[in-house]
Amino acid sequence: RAKENGKDQWQCYDPTMASESYRRFILKNDLQRGIARGELTLYYQPKIAPETEQIVGAEALVRWQHPDFGIVEPGYFIPMAEESGLITQLGNWVIREVTQQIQRWSALNVCTVPVSFNVSPKQLVQSEFVRTVVASLEAAGIEGVCIELEITESAMIHNDHVVDTIRMLQNRGIKVSVDDFGTGYSSFGQLRRHRFDALKVDKSFVDSIAFDKSSATLVKAMIQMAHDLGLRVIVEGVETREQVEILRDYGCDEIQGYYYSRPVPPEEFETLLRQGVTMA
Ligand code: C2E
Ligand code: MG
Ligand code: MG
Ligand code: MG
Repeated sequence: RAKENGKDQWQCYDPTMASESYRRFILKNDLQRGIARGELTLYYQPKIAPETEQIVGAEALVRWQHPDFGIVEPGYFIPMAEESGLITQLGNWVIREVTQQIQRWSALNVCTVPVSFNVSPKQLVQSEFVRTVVASLEAAGIEGVCIELEITESAMIHNDHVVDTIRMLQNRGIKVSVDDFGTGYSSFGQLRRHRFDALKVDKSFVDSIAFDKSSATLVKAMIQMAHDLGLRVIVEGVETREQVEILRDYGCDEIQGYYYSRPVPPEEFETLLRQGVTMA
């Protein structure tokens, strides 16, 4: 590279050497074009019932295949998309892609489990959101019960319009779950206001469950409370056998985590469905 040839020379631009702030700058600039050029893809992570160890669901997670940087994680570009307003375009793409993927899988008879996807609060407050979801379901010829929305806690979801939006979706058979439960400031208030179908307990509670008594007590109580409210409980970020066993004893309905599988491209998810998830 250029720098080895002496100090007065211009360096070639090598994206892997870019500073963090420069990388952010480039990515922010490229996002719109990336979406338009079809650089987004969805990975799928299975949700497992701890009793049977069968796949009972999947979560679709977006990835950005950047031509220079390779795969970019959503934790990085979703906040950028939210800031710039591109989240609507990105979110609409996700809805279309998930519904079409479900259609392809059902045509092949490989997948009968519901697939969830993440919805930004910014999408939920938009008046055309329900119409967009319903139109995608209809275009793909699939039922509302095939999909599940994951919504994180945020101040926005306290508005009346969002309460109505969630009801309308549920009236179509679409399930709605609270993502990252326990990390926001309003978790319990939300549970009174909305009739959610499921609660996803955040990874941060699970990390120490096997050695910290108070984490274990909290998770146990969250599962109990959710069940009393008629909600299913999914625990995410499960990485060890010990955690699985504790969660199974607590009556957790579904487990999602690297212990069973990382998020994988659709073809690999098909293989998991055909063969079942087998542990090392
Ligand atoms: P999330 O919805 O809470 O998704 C779970 C995240 O935890 C995923 O990260 C997943 O890969 C990761 N994960 C699952 N199991 C484990 C585990 O055992 N250990 C560890 N360390 N991590 C685990 P990912 O795919 O990077 O997504 C991050 C976040 O980006 C998501 O958190 C979600 O909030 C957001 N996101 C992803 N896709 C979309 C999308 O299509 N739309 C929107 N609005 N947000 C999205
Ligand atoms: Mg999620
Ligand atoms: Mg989560
Ligand atoms: Mg999260």
